[in-house]
Amino acid sequence: MGAARLRAAQRRYFGSGVTRPAAWRRGQLGALLRLLREREEELTRALEQDLGKGSTEAFLSEIAVVRAEAGYALKHLDRWMAPERITVPGGLRPARAWTQARPLGTVLIIGPWNYPLQLVLAPLVGALAAGNTAVLKPSELAASTSRVLARLIPQYLDPEAVAVVEGGVEASTDLLAQPFDHVFYTGGERVGKIVMKAAAEHLTPVTLELGGKSPAVVVGGDLRTAARRIAYGKFMNAAQTCVAPDYVLTTPDAAPVLADALADAVREFYGSDPRASVDYGRIINDHHFDRLVGLLADGTVVSGGRHERAERYLEPTVLRDVDPASALMQEEIFGPLLPVLEVQDLDEAIGFIGARPHPLAAYLFSDRDEDLRAFTEGVQAGGLAHNVCTIQLAVPGLPFGGVGASGTGSYHGRQSFETFSHLQPVFSKPAGVDTLRLAYPPFGPIKRSLLRRLL
Ligand code: NAD
Repeated sequence: MGAARLRAAQRRYFGSGVTRPAAWRRGQLGALLRLLREREEELTRALEQDLGKGSTEAFLSEIAVVRAEAGYALKHLDRWMAPERITVPGGLRPARAWTQARPLGTVLIIGPWNYPLQLVLAPLVGALAAGNTAVLKPSELAASTSRVLARLIPQYLDPEAVAVVEGGVEASTDLLAQPFDHVFYTGGERVGKIVMKAAAEHLTPVTLELGGKSPAVVVGGDLRTAARRIAYGKFMNAAQTCVAPDYVLTTPDAAPVLADALADAVREFYGSDPRASVDYGRIINDHHFDRLVGLLADGTVVSGGRHERAERYLEPTVLRDVDPASALMQEEIFGPLLPVLEVQDLDEAIGFIGARPHPLAAYLFSDRDEDLRAFTEGVQAGGLAHNVCTIQLAVPGLPFGGVGASGTGSYHGRQSFETFSHLQPVFSKPAGVDTLRLAYPPFGPIKRSLLRRLL
């Protein structure tokens, strides 16, 4: 079915009201959980084919995240759907006011290749919990995952309410030309602009989950623990993670110790030859592999650096002596290269971050409360985390999204429900006694003074 007909058919289905009751929403979320449980093996195999993801990592970073989101939505759905009372000012009483969440309608979800399952299905949880119909467009670069989603989703979810469209730029462009009620896009900044322009044609609201260079600042605490947590957040999925620490800022005395500790952590996780580890992934395609290998020249490799094009393998790599003006420090790295740069102190680190576009995440490693206070005050990023990297996404109650160049809008937990809902205000006044007469013209001196006193 073409994009226009698909959207129109879903809009008609939405208009019939089928998707509105809590029971339908619960049914769909339950079916999604069943799909993840019953078909885990097929899903995991597809992720392995696309990104060389080990099955444990695939479970932790993709399947478990969606399961947690769906479970959280099921648990809180009644409360989210309940009308919320709003206080009415004295002069307008007697009256009642409340907000009531309504589904937006038919939404489009466009996913990227790096977490090709999670980043399509986690937004879908919000869309379904809020009672929408949805068209999903997984990334063509993660072809196996796209194929398995297109095959399995119609077997589990209401096929009139959820459709998967496979394809690349052409398919996306056709879909974006349709008047969806919301577009939820995850991916890079360049395409984010294309999405926003296309959506503007129909005044369609957008959520843009973009990326950027997320810094990790290390100014205190145990360096070995910091190194392990940074290496974990960085090198999972071969560092193709939007919130992975992109680079490290630390003090000159800590830099060599931290660089060594990062190398030790890599050995601890993936052995002395990460190529042989089932837990270490591969680069998505030749284009990104060549781009990353080119960036190796922008610093001194202190550990890692080995690569093998035939299998798109690039070893977890730590670099020093990196020029902040080099390409490595200008573009989002989105691969397993970790530059360690030096700053004199936390203040200089905060200034360094502030002089660049707002990142999607910023990380502080320190055991001093005043550092956390200064970092929270001084750094504007999509989200902050203290003494950990990346795993903040697993807290469904925390909204996830960017600010400025790293994106607009957010989701996860209640925020997902609200992203895909319109909080419709309702104001209701009894019709019996007309208490508004005082506010009707003509306004003589007595009415004027009474009104002034009342308001
Ligand atoms: P990608 O190339 O897979 O593109 C994303 C989607 O956009 C795909 O579905 C693709 O088909 C579509 N697309 C590509 N070109 C298009 C065009 N011209 N018109 C319309 N649609 C088009 O993924 P990517 O952009 O390489 O993803 C990597 C980026 O995503 C990184 O910058 C990363 O930081 C960011 N990211 C952000 C998050 C987040 O949650 N904020 C998560 C993952 C990735």
